[in-house]
Amino acid sequence: MADVKVTVLAGGVGGARFVRGLRAALESEGADITVVVNTGDDLWLSGVRLQPDIDSILYALAGVNDAERGWGRAGESERVSAELREWGAGWPWFTLGDLDLGTHLARTGWLRDGLSYTQVAERLGSRWPIGVRLLPMTDTEVDTQVVVEDGSRLHFQEWWTRHRAVLRAVRFENPGIDGATPAPGVVEAITGADVVVLAPSNPVVSIGPILSVPGIRGALGDAARVVGVSPIIGGKVVRGMADACLTAIGVETSADAVARHYGQRADGGLLDTWLVAEEDAALAPGLAAEGWDVRVEPLWMTDLERSATLARAAITD
Ligand code: GDP
Ligand code: CA
Repeated sequence: MADVKVTVLAGGVGGARFVRGLRAALESEGADITVVVNTGDDLWLSGVRLQPDIDSILYALAGVNDAERGWGRAGESERVSAELREWGAGWPWFTLGDLDLGTHLARTGWLRDGLSYTQVAERLGSRWPIGVRLLPMTDTEVDTQVVVEDGSRLHFQEWWTRHRAVLRAVRFENPGIDGATPAPGVVEAITGADVVVLAPSNPVVSIGPILSVPGIRGALGDAARVVGVSPIIGGKVVRGMADACLTAIGVETSADAVARHYGQRADGGLLDTWLVAEEDAALAPGLAAEGWDVRVEPLWMTDLERSATLARAAITD
């Protein structure tokens, strides 16, 4: 039998946990895994291009991530960041690790040599045997911006990291996204997969920008099967501040509200199947009554084994 083809749409940390589990689940039988990664969090800082979600997934799959802190490289130091602060360069509240800066410098150099983001992702992914193909959602720079209550506009990273998402967000925008196109291979990865999974990532600022790239929603409509995994467990975001993002777009922080936000394919939405946590089992009958194929599974990705079990459940017909 040919290798099973799975394509995952993902943000950073939640996406990385899921993809690590998926790779482990399919290790023995052979698999063709493509991860389409959000690039809305990307930014220019001190002359280098950062791609936080791509790097979170890359580091986690390579096993060089800082699992305790939840982001960045293990064994990191911050000498360069301290020096930048002395110069008054960059953002004093945004620390860049030295090893991480090595990635950003390599990436920026390749971009300046004329490589596309897709080509850069391929180079980054070739350093370690990560076992999946990493694709940016688009080769166009379409950073996520947040419009807050007083009308001012911040880069997503400033709102999230500096202000800890406490400034009330009114809306999220990706300027220029209407003119963007999916990166080469993205549409084919979606339409050619046996199953496409919307990872348990932030629905608004991780999955949202991916779905906003013209052509990606249409490709999902042509996909063989689309499954979503709830990032909300027991009415709470597992970690982080995704509830502030959901509130801004008028979606309640609950597994069923996020399902309805994505919509079921039978009603013109995206999903064929939606996985909710055991803690949210009480929400399943309501969704089922609306025609949803809703499944109750353990959704905590607290270790590799649990992540693999979840990934297996997600791709099983
Ligand atoms: P980010 O880009 O680093 O913020 O990461 P993502 O967008 O990929 O994922 C963030 C979301 O992952 C959080 O809002 C959580 O709701 C979700 N998440 C994190 N850990 C888990 C987990 O163990 N299980 C589930 N179901 N969701 C999780
Ligand atoms: Ca992110």
